[in-house]
Amino acid sequence: MAKIRKRKFIFVVGGVLSGVGKGVTSASIGAIMKAKGFSVTALKIDPYVNVDAGTMNPLEHGEVFVTDDRDETDQDMGNYERFLDVDLTSLNYMTTGRVYLSVIEAERAMKYKGKCVQVVPHIPEHIIERIETAAQHAHADITIIEIGGTVGEYENILFLEAARMMKLRDPESVAMVLVSYLPIPSHIGEMKTKPTQHAARALNSAGLQADMIVARGSTELDVPRREKLAVFCGVRKEYCISAPDVSSIYEIPLKMEEQEIGNKLLSILKLPKKTTNLEPWENLVKRVKNGKRELKVAVVGKYFGTGNFTLADSYISVIEAIKHASWNQSVKPVLEWVDSEDFEKDPTSVKKLSMYDAVIVPGGFGTRGVEGIITAIQYVRECHIPYLGLCYGMQLACIEFARHVLKKTSAHTVEVNPHTSEPIIHINPLQASNVREQKYGGTMRLGAYECVLRYGTRVHNAYKTDTISERHRHRYEFNNEYREALDTAGLRVVGVNPETDLVEIVELENHPYFVGVQFHPEFKSRPMNPHPLFVGLVKAAMKVRTS
Ligand code: GLN
Repeated sequence: MAKIRKRKFIFVVGGVLSGVGKGVTSASIGAIMKAKGFSVTALKIDPYVNVDAGTMNPLEHGEVFVTDDRDETDQDMGNYERFLDVDLTSLNYMTTGRVYLSVIEAERAMKYKGKCVQVVPHIPEHIIERIETAAQHAHADITIIEIGGTVGEYENILFLEAARMMKLRDPESVAMVLVSYLPIPSHIGEMKTKPTQHAARALNSAGLQADMIVARGSTELDVPRREKLAVFCGVRKEYCISAPDVSSIYEIPLKMEEQEIGNKLLSILKLPKKTTNLEPWENLVKRVKNGKRELKVAVVGKYFGTGNFTLADSYISVIEAIKHASWNQSVKPVLEWVDSEDFEKDPTSVKKLSMYDAVIVPGGFGTRGVEGIITAIQYVRECHIPYLGLCYGMQLACIEFARHVLKKTSAHTVEVNPHTSEPIIHINPLQASNVREQKYGGTMRLGAYECVLRYGTRVHNAYKTDTISERHRHRYEFNNEYREALDTAGLRVVGVNPETDLVEIVELENHPYFVGVQFHPEFKSRPMNPHPLFVGLVKAAMKVRTS
């Protein structure tokens, strides 16, 4: 392992547009540094006033990614975990709200000893303290810090100020990477650098100079454009990195390292060059390209007509987990979104699910589309289509079974019908008081919990271990009063929390694959290490198809 004497920090900021891939760029730089033998960690800064992402609508903000230590964070944290193959903690995530809350709490506790507490320097100093704590905790040689939003906004100015203060204290320990977008307007047909020039200037007016520009665009950065960026943005020509669109995000570390981004950053940080071992990434990309046989997966849920763009972001970990498992089994996943409300309007349309090799119902909240999901689950259960239910997908599978097999027609979750006479999914008293008192933020059952698997079951065979740990994010629970009835009738309770006796996994007998989990396995799937439950689903789907 390489060891460096002083910790180094790479800030990644965005120019021109948000959503151009700062997260994946940060994660890829991290993967490259790790492949050079450094110990690496990554932080995400969300400029929102929300204390965490748990209170943000995933259709607007993207998936809420949950850490082992119960934090509800930004989807980019998932990219970091997947690319760096590490488990991050709440130390790796901050928002404006979180920063201010800590400073105000410290002020109330007289920690500032009578001083006037000011936005500058106290807020940036607290931000720096958080960054340094995360770096120390991870024993990181190199810490990547992604600042959300784009330069020039009001929202992230104090985070840029923190970066400026760090760079001023020790210029050699901080590198600034500007990820910017270079549009090609159709009527001009030429890649334009001007918006990036403005972004570089906006960064200058925050007292910072970009050391490197990652030029995102639909095509490669050519020589004339590279020269323009260099002159007008004050960045060395060879430090302008071309980052065209690619078919799989897992190609990005390879593409970037072809341009030696790693050694260039090391030289900015005044460190000697080092070789990079990206062999595992090369093998992964080969697997991605090798999968020729298609696997059709339907993701069934309620959707708000926001279009496919937002949906992909809201369920990014589920999508990635399906891909990881499919590539592992040398098949090519083809994913389709199926709106459960269609099955409410026309229940016979549920037959279209027979076109798919596998069906997934992901996590969700509220009433909308729930009856349609239940119709879908009944269909896949009866027609033996491989099924994986994630969180709400597990709860609704239990309700479906209770209604149609146990003939408890009014079976429901109290989330949808608080007065149901058959509360298959209910709420514990503590959670009920959270809801009553509107204590919504950070109060769900969150983070990692242990689960003991029943010997010889499908999930036990998949995990190949007796006890697992998985991440949760839910308020409602399976009601143990119905446990025996469900189990005896064939929806077997095969995973239970050893401390609380809460039901965590159910699986159906006499079905190629029908598994419901109260947790979110998707958060722990990694490109080189796919999640066993998703691999199980893919294997079963391929087997059903061949037979
Ligand atoms: N709405 C359900 C609950 O709160 C399931 C949550 C989820 O799917 N993440 O328990």
